[in-house]
Amino acid sequence: MRTHWGRVYLKYAFLFPLVFFFTAFRPVFSASRVVGVSDGDTITILHDNREQERIRLYGIDSPEKSQAFGQKAKQYASTLVYGKTVSIRVMDRDKYGRTVAWVYAGDMNVNAELVRAGYAWHYRKYSKDASLQRLEDEARMARRGLWVDPNPVPPWEYRKGKRISAAIPGSITGGSVSLAQITNAESPVPVQAVYHGNVKSRKFHRPSCSVYDCKNCMAVFRSREDAINAGYEPCRMCNP
Ligand SMILES: [Zn+2]
Repeated sequence: MRTHWGRVYLKYAFLFPLVFFFTAFRPVFSASRVVGVSDGDTITILHDNREQERIRLYGIDSPEKSQAFGQKAKQYASTLVYGKTVSIRVMDRDKYGRTVAWVYAGDMNVNAELVRAGYAWHYRKYSKDASLQRLEDEARMARRGLWVDPNPVPPWEYRKGKRISAAIPGSITGGSVSLAQITNAESPVPVQAVYHGNVKSRKFHRPSCSVYDCKNCMAVFRSREDAINAGYEPCRMCNP
């Protein structure tokens, strides 16, 4: 008997590292019920211990509620996850201490679905995820969701614009404020360059474009006009 179990032990010994692997990485995934959706990229989940946690969806940025499609993005996120049990894979914490995570509802990757449907941008500043970028490019080409507007303002630029206009009394209020407009308003706040131009193809791109930081994209323009005056053409994909 003893030799028999010894042999069984040896036969399955290779499984132990696997068991260890899955045990060690298990806390990364946790299942919780969604009890709140604040906007297209932020939800609140309820843990088993009754504690609530706000989750910022990783790699995506949805329009702000005061932007076009902000409310629609929130509604769509709600239909995907509200009241449902989701799995969370934590990636990071943001500067506000919020948990940044992939969210799954069953087999669905919620972050990716929001980008696919045109209710969120790939948040390129914080993510290098190629599949999110591809989904955004496809949504833009198909004019889905927010991409019905050929020239939507990325939420990160919109937020920056709001901060800048708050710093310039009576300058620009509400609406869709583009960084180009702010630059033209002779703002005392230094505004970073918004467009990149490809020195070979002579096309220029918005920051949201998948080729914005391409190898030859070394020309930098503060406005659309600057780029055109320098002899550059707007990219057909990102419509700067
Ligand atoms: Zn482009």
